Amino acid sequence: MIRLAIQKSGRLSEDSLNLIRECGINFVASSYKLKTEATNFPLEILYLRDDDIPGYVQDGVADLGIVGQNVLVEAGYPALEIEALGFSKCRLSLAVPRAAGYDSVADLQGKNIATSYPAILGKYLAEHGVQANLHTISGSVEIAPSIGLAEAICDIVSSGSTLLGNGLREVETVFRSEAVLIANQNLSEEKREILEQLQFRMQAVRRARR
Ligand code: ATP
Ligand code: ZN
Repeated sequence: MIRLAIQKSGRLSEDSLNLIRECGINFVASSYKLKTEATNFPLEILYLRDDDIPGYVQDGVADLGIVGQNVLVEAGYPALEIEALGFSKCRLSLAVPRAAGYDSVADLQGKNIATSYPAILGKYLAEHGVQANLHTISGSVEIAPSIGLAEAICDIVSSGSTLLGNGLREVETVFRSEAVLIANQNLSEEKREILEQLQFRMQAVRRARR
């Protein structure tokens, strides 16, 4: 039996469940339960908040997980990634108020930037030789400039309409992300074999979708 953690409810949930089902794995999904056992494959599914998934897989509470690379890298466990899954594509971008002048990332020197991704943003700014004050907030990052909390933000963007609605303009792409399969690095021989079968099926599903 192998244990796979997926997001309980959110943008990753439906595509994660669909992928497992398309692998021919049957289970009864329940929004009340924390876990489900598949009926025709040695798999147990755990439903968690996406932010908790990397740590649980690192610690071996779950053997496998499906999570966005943004959350995985921010948590500090990029080495757990074993396969990109091609869904939940998004980017982490810097944005400034539409009226503010902006030429390059150097303009952010000494500025206050609100983000839920201080680790990824901090690394990006350091690579560009920029020092800024990062304010870590967990949600509604895009309203920070309008309430005077920050002169810029760094947040997940897919269409850009949320930015537009808050009078912001996307100025730099900091990180590109998609959903990935992650695995604990000390799986037993038995679990590694189950993982191999699972990956084989996932790859077949992805080939069939193309
Ligand atoms: P949780 O309650 O599990 O903590 P959450 O609110 O943190 O959920 P969601 O908004 O459901 O997270 O997003 C989950 C993941 O989906 C993100 O970390 C990112 O990888 C991806 N994602 C976020 N926004 C988009 C988007 N607009 N389009 C596609 N993928 C996205
Ligand atoms: Zn989350």
